[in-house]
Amino acid sequence: MKKIPDGTHSIYTIDCHYMAAGNACAYLLIENGRAVFIENNTVHAVPYLMRALRDHGISPDKVDLLIVTHLHLDHAGGTSALLRECPNATVLCHPKASRHIIDPSRLVKASIAVYGEDHFIKMYGQIMPVEASRVRSMGDGEMLDYGSRRFSFIHTAGHATHHFCIHDSGSNGIFTGDAFGLAYPVLQRGAAPFLFPTTAPSEFDLEEARRSVENIMATGAGHAYLTHFGAYPDIRDGALQMTDAFDRIAGIAEDASAAGITGDALEEFCRDRFLEFFDNRIRERGLVLSSEEREILDVDIRLNGRGIAQYIEKRRGGAQ
Ligand SMILES: [Zn+2]
Repeated sequence: MKKIPDGTHSIYTIDCHYMAAGNACAYLLIENGRAVFIENNTVHAVPYLMRALRDHGISPDKVDLLIVTHLHLDHAGGTSALLRECPNATVLCHPKASRHIIDPSRLVKASIAVYGEDHFIKMYGQIMPVEASRVRSMGDGEMLDYGSRRFSFIHTAGHATHHFCIHDSGSNGIFTGDAFGLAYPVLQRGAAPFLFPTTAPSEFDLEEARRSVENIMATGAGHAYLTHFGAYPDIRDGALQMTDAFDRIAGIAEDASAAGITGDALEEFCRDRFLEFFDNRIRERGLVLSSEEREILDVDIRLNGRGIAQYIEKRRGGAQ
């Protein structure tokens, strides 16, 4: 599969070194000597983002927009810190994300409840409130002209209800956050590229996720800019792999329901079945992973198992 070299269409991939190199990125888009960041990872990534600006000779006051696909902290955790560095920048986000960017206290509290305070600070750093005047919500289908390009925002709720994707007319590419799966560089070394959906808790919804992929394809984009990680050149191949995995997840849900599995056993069941799917795809491609690489993927597989289990429970609750 053809690669898209860094800098094509003036879009640059910045490795945020989140947990490891090649795990999460942000994008710098340059237009007429001015700049836009898409995603910002965490507070700890801000130095990498500022270095990328310097490397391209752009001063921080020429950054106009910080676009975040959704609230998850490996995408939007650095927003307040990056805004302080870029005095003229406005945040563009989903309408359901804006109030949490302006007042992050609930988000931070919920995260600390999961990770504990020490771990939270180590992972994400200090997340501060943002002035409401610097945050703009973008509706579904809304467009924004930026120099010679047009950004179109499409709401994509499958991974999280506060998620949107951004189509860029300048590259005919689409920034997909977590709505078009994960395709780490380590997964591209086999006989064929590999991409799989993230179904992490707590809002994963299979039907919405299928719709998100359809809506991404309906933009006519030729390639996808994934946050995990980099440009995926063949969007059709990516969509086929997403659909294949969604069909598998539907099968997992059916089997779990037929067997009446609940609680911790359900989470274990979903994880094991997703792992089986994942390992088959790895084997088919002749991919060999080091134990460090495997460790990072295990985190995703665990989260996917939990997210699928929660989706099944939610659906059961709704059916009653
Ligand atoms: Zn996410």
